Amino acid sequence: MTDNVRSRMKVLQGIPASPGVAIGKVFFVNRALPRSVLSTVSKDKAEEEVAGFLRAVARSREQIQSIRDSVKDQSTDHYQILSVHLALLEDSMLIDQTVRLIRENRFKADWAFNKVLQNLLQTFHRIEDKYLRERGHDLRQIGHRVLENLAGRPVESVASIREPVIVIAHDLSPADTAQILNSPVLGFATDVGSKTSHTAITARSLGIPAVVGLERITQEFTENEEAIVDGEEGVVVLRPTAETVREYTEKKKAYTLRIRDLAKFAKLPAVTRDGKTLKLLANIEFPEEAEVSLRSGADGVGLYRTEFLYLNRRDLPSEEEHFQTYRRVAEKFARQPVTIRTIDLGGDKFASQLELAEEMNPAMGLRAIRFCLREKDIFKQQIRAILRASSYGDVSIMFPMISGVGELREALAVVEEAKAELKKRRISFNRKMRAGIMVEIPSAAIVADLLAREVDFFSIGTNDLIQYALAIDRVNEHVSYLYEPLHPAILRLIRRIVDAGHDAGIPVAMCGEMAGEPLYSYVLLGLGMDEWSMNATSIPRVKRILRKSVAYEAREFVGELLAHATASDIAEILKKKLEVLFPEERF
Ligand code: PEP
Ligand code: MG
Repeated sequence: MTDNVRSRMKVLQGIPASPGVAIGKVFFVNRALPRSVLSTVSKDKAEEEVAGFLRAVARSREQIQSIRDSVKDQSTDHYQILSVHLALLEDSMLIDQTVRLIRENRFKADWAFNKVLQNLLQTFHRIEDKYLRERGHDLRQIGHRVLENLAGRPVESVASIREPVIVIAHDLSPADTAQILNSPVLGFATDVGSKTSHTAITARSLGIPAVVGLERITQEFTENEEAIVDGEEGVVVLRPTAETVREYTEKKKAYTLRIRDLAKFAKLPAVTRDGKTLKLLANIEFPEEAEVSLRSGADGVGLYRTEFLYLNRRDLPSEEEHFQTYRRVAEKFARQPVTIRTIDLGGDKFASQLELAEEMNPAMGLRAIRFCLREKDIFKQQIRAILRASSYGDVSIMFPMISGVGELREALAVVEEAKAELKKRRISFNRKMRAGIMVEIPSAAIVADLLAREVDFFSIGTNDLIQYALAIDRVNEHVSYLYEPLHPAILRLIRRIVDAGHDAGIPVAMCGEMAGEPLYSYVLLGLGMDEWSMNATSIPRVKRILRKSVAYEAREFVGELLAHATASDIAEILKKKLEVLFPEERF
């Protein structure tokens, strides 16, 4: 690239990973694998080469160990991913194969190691499951460290950053992100990554603006020049003009004010102007999200997606591991409710150790409760762990993808078996632990009255309910325009579920994405929703809207809304109403 082109402002679009605006100098963290040249050593030098390689591995292990030791809380993602890195450095495939290549072919250590690494990376690259594929990044990161140690070069450390900067990298390792905790990093931008990659998760929990998946940022930036990270829009501006800096400085101020203003709502109760008390809860995937959830004002956890316990690993989690994880969450929330959903594996979330078959229609295949009822030992093991955790907090169990009463009874029978086993082992649990279901299959919505008699609560999973009711693949971008939460069929289904729940005297929650979208808050209030469960950061905003609403007026309005025939008519009327009711909100 010529200097002329390099000096021009450049705007790159990536995936918004963590909201907020950061403006500052760029700091490049180079984690690309150093290139190796094929070369050999004489026969009598091969053992020296092996020894040098093993020293570089040991040094890398020490470095990661010491970074891991600096992470105080062992329950964090950081700690666990650093443990994965340590385990990868113990991996006999990686180490033994390299040693063998050096001994058999007299290759230089860096070439031999690079060769083994590239072979393994290719295997990871072919894996379809994105969580497992991301472990390829872990392998690349430790590969980089070993090669730098082998060459006797210092491994550049995020911990050495002393000035406030924007970190740019192809990818950041957990070792890097763990160090960001104690450094003045303003924001970061990476070539790779998704919303669920650990880099994005860490950014959100640290509250640092971040954009991932930018593809070419490491090829476009200029060292020491200024950049802007807009984590809300997923935009990075390189070499911004003075005017653009001014524009984003304003945006940053507005964002800070918005967050400060919203933070006040986190602590206030979710009560409507006419005195209806609602519960706003958090959706979590990892125990370490508990802190952010509590800070955002969550009244507990409405959906704990436990399938994440099965991902990124080769073995199955043990009952003890399930139990300790759930217990940690239950204790963090003290007396607040924690709803643990039994695994929803299969479909688009598969774990390699379970060897699920490839299916033509995975969304309609052997997933969630169907898989659990087939593999009852795996299911019962998780249920025993949930029951055991129920002694340490207000824990309840929730089954995903229930299609009717027969399936529900089968699941409840497994809970009874698990209880009997724990009694026999003299292990305590809450005998009155509540059991509920996700209503996310249209058949369950249609027989909601029958289901309501046999459970303690409902939680509506709109992500799947909309997918199945409108026949729209939720991950297919070509039909996403048809994914309409305000479709009259969806609103009728929700009303039906809420009414059936209330007639039977049980509370009705919603934990699909619709619950965290402020545009729908007033409609859901009008439909009679009792509990909302969402990404924790959305809680203050939804709470602010609900606190300014009058429940009986919302009910009347929704009655009128339901008389309209199309989603677009409904959306138009709703937006007009919201502009009048909440002129200061942005929808
Ligand atoms: C849903 O389907 O709405 C839901 C909350 O579950 P998941 O997104 O995990 O399928
Ligand atoms: Mg679902």
